[in-house]
Amino acid sequence: MQIPFFNYPKIYAEEKEAFNEIFQEVCSRGAFIMQKDLSDFEQELAEYIGCKHVIGVADGTVALNLSLKAAGLKKGQEVIISSHTFIATAAAIKDAGGIPVVSDCLSDSSISPKSIENMISEKTAIIMPTQLNGRCCQMDEIQEIADKNKLKIVEDSCQSLGATYKNKKAGLFGVAGSYSFFPAKTLGCFGDGGAIATNSDEAADLILKLRNHGRDPSGYVSEFGINGRLDNLQAAILKHKLKSYDLYINKRREIASLYYSKLNHIGDILLPPAPNNEGENFDIFQNYEIQVKERAKLKEYLLKNGIGTIIQWGGWMIHQFKDLNLKSDHNYAEEMSKRMLLLPMNHYLTLEEVEYICDKILNYYG
Ligand SMILES: *Cc1c(COP(=O)(O)O)cnc(C)c1O
Repeated sequence: MQIPFFNYPKIYAEEKEAFNEIFQEVCSRGAFIMQKDLSDFEQELAEYIGCKHVIGVADGTVALNLSLKAAGLKKGQEVIISSHTFIATAAAIKDAGGIPVVSDCLSDSSISPKSIENMISEKTAIIMPTQLNGRCCQMDEIQEIADKNKLKIVEDSCQSLGATYKNKKAGLFGVAGSYSFFPAKTLGCFGDGGAIATNSDEAADLILKLRNHGRDPSGYVSEFGINGRLDNLQAAILKHKLKSYDLYINKRREIASLYYSKLNHIGDILLPPAPNNEGENFDIFQNYEIQVKERAKLKEYLLKNGIGTIIQWGGWMIHQFKDLNLKSDHNYAEEMSKRMLLLPMNHYLTLEEVEYICDKILNYYG
């Protein structure tokens, strides 16, 4: 069997006819920028998330950047993030004039609340937890820390559309939440795309302006914005795929259950928590990140057997980009960076393929 880490052509192949029809229909209307497909998608996604406003934007990084601006981030203020996140989290802060400050992570990949407390300073304005791998952080504790220190929360929920913590969806814990529609994300489009969720009318008004050159509906500009719009054609594709989103998530959770039941007894592997319908977290498994000693050997063995794996962020936690000189607290993240490995996880996989991956891993450990 050949199982690439992610099979990009399958995105189109899965529903080729439906996608072709959408392309023809939207293009025939000449509906390319800020048209009905975009506002329909925004409305339907808002219903799915259960929030007042969803604003489609160019990509997840723009979503993070505009969310921080909407939360009132000022030049020189610090924003606390996790070491185990995409560089875009830090870059969005930098671009909005802030200073990224890096906290440690926990064994389930979420940000460590204790470490957040260690990193708070006079300059801290915002906590920006990454809801990584499709799993929410310990949001009660983070909320408590934010309240106690009068800090705002802005979420990097780019990997967690539909994940919940105590029945609240990722993206709704702070001023605003961001999502990415990069092709390999749980809800992927045919290029770049992103969205912001917020319950604040004020934040929504500002983001709507900023994504469209700072213009209000009359065309008046009160402050400089950017071109950060989500293409209408991508929105039409996303609107179609949103109808099947719960099925994609169910499939991912089914795959996670299979990995868990087959591999959980291997002492040398630390698995993500099993999908759980009763606990505080409902995870959507954007990624299936395991931790193993001697990662390179397992990676190579799996590759020899036709199985693609990936090391998230190329193996660098944020604090390990030495040239960026970021203030950080990172004991666990340092260790985890040597052990983390992503197994194939997407709704296009068959259960037979997942069984094959598990069998090879079981063989490897004898
Ligand atoms: C995908 C992702 C983003 C945003 O990525 P874009 O490519 O800009 O859409 C941000 N943060 C995390 C954690 C991500 O995984």
